[in-house]
Amino acid sequence: MPGEFQLIQQFFQREQAEQPAAGVLLGIGDDCALLQIPDGKQLAVSVDTLVSGVHFPADAAPDHIAERALRTNLSDLAAMGADPLWFTLALTLPEANEDWLRSFSRGLFACARTYGIALVGGDTTSGPLSITIQVMGAVAPGRAMRRDGANIGDFILVTHSLGDGAAALAAIQGRITCDESAIEYLHERFYRPVPRLRESALVREFASAALDISDGLVADLQHICDASDVGAIIDVETLPLSPAVQALQNQAQALEWALSGGDDYELCFTVAPEKMADIAMLIAQGELVATVIGEIVPGNKVICEYEGEPFALANTGYQHF
Ligand code: ADP
Ligand code: MG
Repeated sequence: MPGEFQLIQQFFQREQAEQPAAGVLLGIGDDCALLQIPDGKQLAVSVDTLVSGVHFPADAAPDHIAERALRTNLSDLAAMGADPLWFTLALTLPEANEDWLRSFSRGLFACARTYGIALVGGDTTSGPLSITIQVMGAVAPGRAMRRDGANIGDFILVTHSLGDGAAALAAIQGRITCDESAIEYLHERFYRPVPRLRESALVREFASAALDISDGLVADLQHICDASDVGAIIDVETLPLSPAVQALQNQAQALEWALSGGDDYELCFTVAPEKMADIAMLIAQGELVATVIGEIVPGNKVICEYEGEPFALANTGYQHF
């Protein structure tokens, strides 16, 4: 069995060395990486851990696990309005299985290439399988989409569709049945969620606040309300649902998933009324896929309404503890 250093070299250092990376003065191999932040930019940093059996099934394909880990981290950069630069990887492995590592590395670097982010360091330890990725990105001063910028009267929008993450998990666990094309779509959405970096670059000039939806729309929008000291109304009938979710037997369940399912990794952002014309133009031109789903109002809570009537929710979001 190869030693730790050989593993790092074979599956991470060598792979990364084949890809040019801007700003990396010194990458994998020394005590620290040395990185040059682009001129005039601020550094945005975020870290997330994925634990086997909690954030992904223990027997999931290693390339899927790697892709999901990096993509969900990239989603945080998108939510902040930052462009990807570099990442580090802390890997805890139960055993040094070369086949597993080869597949993991393939998935990781396929994703890294797609989104132009470079691996600059990490840590490798032995223990129950877990993957921690820290991403770093660049954002222009004053351009970051923070959670504390929403104002009363702002429109609330989300990108693409909601509820796919929860529907995918239900499909994977055999709790729902769908046709083959829907299954394929939901699998892709679950294992390879698209970090909304393109959308982020379009809206960051106009958005007053933003985040990515990982725990469910209601739970995550509440974070914007708390940080901005405002309330929000969601018009449930406007929630964008994918054809796969629209086709589900139980439409009440579908709405529930769209509101509180989690794992969607769409952007939720707020826009002041005077800036809505710019956003509407991007949508009309087909540049941006986003839907107005509600409004920021006085108060401190997220309220759901269906055609003007209160809409009760059984479950408001995934909580780890
Ligand atoms: P140290 O003992 O100084 O922490 P390590 O042996 O942990 O050094 O790591 C040696 C080098 O390999 C460092 O540059 C580190 O960033 C890199 N590294 C370790 N594990 C990984 C990994 N899983 N992915 C990428 N780089 C890694
Ligand atoms: Mg170390």
